[in-house]
Amino acid sequence: MALFTHDVVIVGAGLAGLRAAVELAGQCDVAVVSKLHPLRSHTGAAQGGICAALGNEEEDSPLWHAYDTVKGSDYLGDQDAIEIMCNDAPRAIIEMEHYGVPFSRTPEGKIAQRPFGGHTRNFGEAPVRRACYAADRTGHVCLHTLYEQSVRRNVRFYDEFQVLDLCETDGVICGVVAYEIRTGEVHVFNSKVVMFATGGYGRAWKTTSNAHANTGDGLGIVLRHNMPLEDMEFVQFHPTGLYRLGILVTEGARGEGGILKNSKGERFMERYAPTVKDLAPRDVISRCIYMEIAEGRGIGPNKDYVELDLTHLSLKQIETKLPEISTFAKIYLGVDPSKNPIPVQPTCHYAMGGIPTDVNGRVVIDEKNTPKIGFWAAGEAACVSVHGGNRLGTNSLLDLIIFGRRAGKDILEFVKKTKGIMPVQENATDNAKARIKALLDRTSGESVGKVREDLQRMMMDNVSVFRNEERLSAAQNAIKDIRERTKKICIQDKGKEFNSDLLDAIELEFMVDYAQTVVECAYNRKESRGAHAREDYPTRDDANWLKHSLCWLDEAGNVEIKFKPVNMKLANEDPRFIPKERKY
Ligand SMILES: Cc1cc2nc3c(=O)[nH]c(=O)nc-3n(C[C@H](O)[C@H](O)[C@H](O)COP(=O)(O)OP(=O)(O)OC[C@H]3O[C@@H](n4cnc5c(N)ncnc54)[C@H](O)[C@@H]3O)c2cc1C
Repeated sequence: MALFTHDVVIVGAGLAGLRAAVELAGQCDVAVVSKLHPLRSHTGAAQGGICAALGNEEEDSPLWHAYDTVKGSDYLGDQDAIEIMCNDAPRAIIEMEHYGVPFSRTPEGKIAQRPFGGHTRNFGEAPVRRACYAADRTGHVCLHTLYEQSVRRNVRFYDEFQVLDLCETDGVICGVVAYEIRTGEVHVFNSKVVMFATGGYGRAWKTTSNAHANTGDGLGIVLRHNMPLEDMEFVQFHPTGLYRLGILVTEGARGEGGILKNSKGERFMERYAPTVKDLAPRDVISRCIYMEIAEGRGIGPNKDYVELDLTHLSLKQIETKLPEISTFAKIYLGVDPSKNPIPVQPTCHYAMGGIPTDVNGRVVIDEKNTPKIGFWAAGEAACVSVHGGNRLGTNSLLDLIIFGRRAGKDILEFVKKTKGIMPVQENATDNAKARIKALLDRTSGESVGKVREDLQRMMMDNVSVFRNEERLSAAQNAIKDIRERTKKICIQDKGKEFNSDLLDAIELEFMVDYAQTVVECAYNRKESRGAHAREDYPTRDDANWLKHSLCWLDEAGNVEIKFKPVNMKLANEDPRFIPKERKY
């Protein structure tokens, strides 16, 4: 075991973690610990864009952006945070350009912009071109650019170190316990500050656009330290995953003019969202696809998918603006999108909920927003909350760079005024070591794969686009059973080097923890809002439910839920932001 000491330890090398690291580099001693090589972080899979009201292609304003984000969130997003993000977005994009991001260009050489779901001009009048992009590889280029900037600034990277636990002394967070994947050694990082930027957690569902690593480890660790998670019931399904596989086809395909069709060849979104049609937000379109399928207008032998039609776009447009998704469709489904429509179905995509933070990335631990000393979080693992009940496309990459940077600035202040590093307790590694030992010692039991598959199928069947009391109570029972089975898992590999069997088992334990909070919060919220659609409570109920859920998990596996008010700053200043029915 080694003891590494740094001022700041950032867990996660996606865009949120790297943006914070770039802010801190050169000002204090910062380390980034990541279970993956940084360039394998899920940010690299982001396709469609990153938005800002630059107004390069047509008139736009940060106020319209804020309006769309508040409305898109189904009024659950915190309006102080949304205002900060939308106002700061144009500056942040230019900064990314200066760091070296190779954005696609307009003929005059400005950053090109395309329309995306839910982004509109003049308070909902018509779609607006707000998403900046680099073909359909936007996340890839942003991640590479910030990794280069981090390396250039001598940020210390610990690649393939999997964090298993937090160190806490006298209520102060002062480090992490990490497993070195190459050697099987357990190490301690002791620091003034820990920041979690551990990304999304779509892997608890069977059909998902998320990478294999998106297993919510950060959330599981937070729950195990008796800290709450926020708004866990809000999980976004993206309307266009490749049929059966869930691999994403970016909304940028519809931004470029693609349209969704049912078995009758109808452009069905015209009926549901007459103004913005195929560019309605994701929660709305995913529900419409399910309704088309339920009413018998699905396509294929099982009538269980719809089609995304790009055949009317020019070959040049597909080749220059959508090269990656075009290749995916050809490789995985054998479909050439310039000749035939692509079979698609909704896929689990993005988690609006996560570790609660304030607008400076400080983790908060109760309904009064009390900060946890020494602990910050940003990115998809965190909940600021700018996305509320439903995230608009391209607002996540933006969230990462805005709040990653703000967390970096706030952390720097804290590091400067904090003398000395709180030592970790002698028993800091006991918990992690006991978990590993239990898994290595057990000689019989079920495989990780079997239990994980049952969890994923159960979440897909009971806790996806449409929910109801019956399915959610079935999920409550099922998850208790899965928790018990997880305690008895047997792994085959008992070695020390690259033991992925062991790490899969540990990830599954975290998945069960956060999946249970999703189930319980979804059961508890008796209304429909954003991505949380209850068949038995089909309307939004602002009188009773315009509030965030906060949930805690105890050692026995029981979830406690409390509530926190939504920040309504903009609605208090401007009547256009007052909650009303969401129409598109
Ligand atoms: C296919 C796809 C396409 C998308 N397209 C877009 C888009 O076009 N526009 C947009 O705005 N958003 C998009 N999103 C959403 C967006 O990409 C993600 O929300 C965002 O990239 C998450 O970034 P992050 O920095 O929070 O985490 P990630 O990029 O997921 O990185 C997480 C990091 O945490 C590390 N980590 C996790 N657990 C541990 C652990 N236990 N120990 C050590 N390290 C750990 C990982 O190694 C990794 O480095 C897309 C998402 C997907 C899945």
